[in-house]
Amino acid sequence: MNHSPNNPIFLSSSLHVDDARKAITQMVDELLAEARLLNNSAEINIVSLDQAINRILAEDVLSPIDVPSADNSAMDGFAFNGKCLEINSLDITLAVVGTALAGKPYEGKVSDGECLKIMTGALMPSGCDTVIPQELTTSDNPEFITFRQNQLKPGENRRLRGEDLQKGKPAIAAGRLLRPSDLGLAASLGIASLKVKRKLRVAILSSGDELRSLGQPLESGCIYDSNRYSLTGLLNRLNLEIIDCGIVRDDPKSLKEAFIEASTQADVLISSGGVSVGEADFTKQIMQELGDVGFWKIAMRPGRPMAFGTLKPVPGQSSAKRTLFFGLPGNPVAVMVTFYQFVRSALLQLNGASQTEVPLSQAISETPIRKKPGRTEFQRAILGRNAEGRPTVRLTGSQGAGILRSMSEASCFIILHHDQGNIAAGDWVDVALFDGLL
Ligand code: AMP
Ligand code: MG
Repeated sequence: MNHSPNNPIFLSSSLHVDDARKAITQMVDELLAEARLLNNSAEINIVSLDQAINRILAEDVLSPIDVPSADNSAMDGFAFNGKCLEINSLDITLAVVGTALAGKPYEGKVSDGECLKIMTGALMPSGCDTVIPQELTTSDNPEFITFRQNQLKPGENRRLRGEDLQKGKPAIAAGRLLRPSDLGLAASLGIASLKVKRKLRVAILSSGDELRSLGQPLESGCIYDSNRYSLTGLLNRLNLEIIDCGIVRDDPKSLKEAFIEASTQADVLISSGGVSVGEADFTKQIMQELGDVGFWKIAMRPGRPMAFGTLKPVPGQSSAKRTLFFGLPGNPVAVMVTFYQFVRSALLQLNGASQTEVPLSQAISETPIRKKPGRTEFQRAILGRNAEGRPTVRLTGSQGAGILRSMSEASCFIILHHDQGNIAAGDWVDVALFDGLL
């Protein structure tokens, strides 16, 4: 590895969020290239659709059929031969010769001057290429319908065979983080299982002498370890395998043992705490022995200190792979912000996902927000709507890095970019939603 001062992994002065992201992406690319040199066959699982949500598709799903499999009606109405629309007359009257339902095709023939009552999804009978929607017709006698000739063109309201998807063409592309609609799509093609990337194994640990596990008594000066729970929640959303390494005391021996243990089992280790000024020197020393890790001061708030790099393969262990390491800050909100900003996309990238970024949208700030140019800020906020129906955001209470309640009440981050200054009420700002619907 390149330890030169130009390598962003080892930069210690204040690092732009974008440069931190670039350095992480580069490192994950390196790890992916190394993984390709090792045997890849164990990297793919075949899972049934009910187990596939949030997994990453390993190969394109090719459609085994045309969708739809035959021409069919897009509306409830009457099917007929569109040729009759070319004749210049104001009204057209057709005799109704039968009915076609979805799943119950009409076997007879429909001749000129005739039509067939047809339901959405029912097969188009032979001789018919056009459907007039029911509501555009009039009828005094159920055996006949009348409609205006200029209301439609030949071929309208018919879905063509293969219109949605042609046989042999990719229906879902490799790299897709599988969503409910993808599972439905696979099922609609008769596909019961999918080839997905193996679940990443992600080890998590919390470091700090003051931390206590749930159920333990809380002596004075101690706090409950909440970071492992928010991290578990964040990781569970990605359907990963979590290895919980618990709480590790602030002493070199325990920390070293925990890092070695995690790196023998996991693809990625995420720790929280112990990277801020004062504590970092002590962690740095261990990291020099165990891997290549940079200690960053990122120009962001919250979440300024962060360690990032890789842990060497442990000698004598079967896995020859390096372990990606994120040493997140200890503050509960900073942990979540740095996860959203850096870890989530790295995990997706390492697992072969094609889309790794959190999509941004925009909303109008209800209040002024103070912001210094020169750092990226993540403010917790609630998305709403104003009287004109426009999206708005308002901050949730105190924005201190340790205040989880404001995070819990928020539905999004307002992201104030590096060069941005103060925000006035009514300004549009970028927001990242915590939850996407699909
Ligand atoms: P540190 O980065 O270790 O200096 O921690 C920064 C702040 O976050 C301190 O107030 C810690 O007590 C707190 N903290 C660290 N780890 C955790 C954790 N796992 N759960 C809750 N708070 C934590
Ligand atoms: Mg600490």
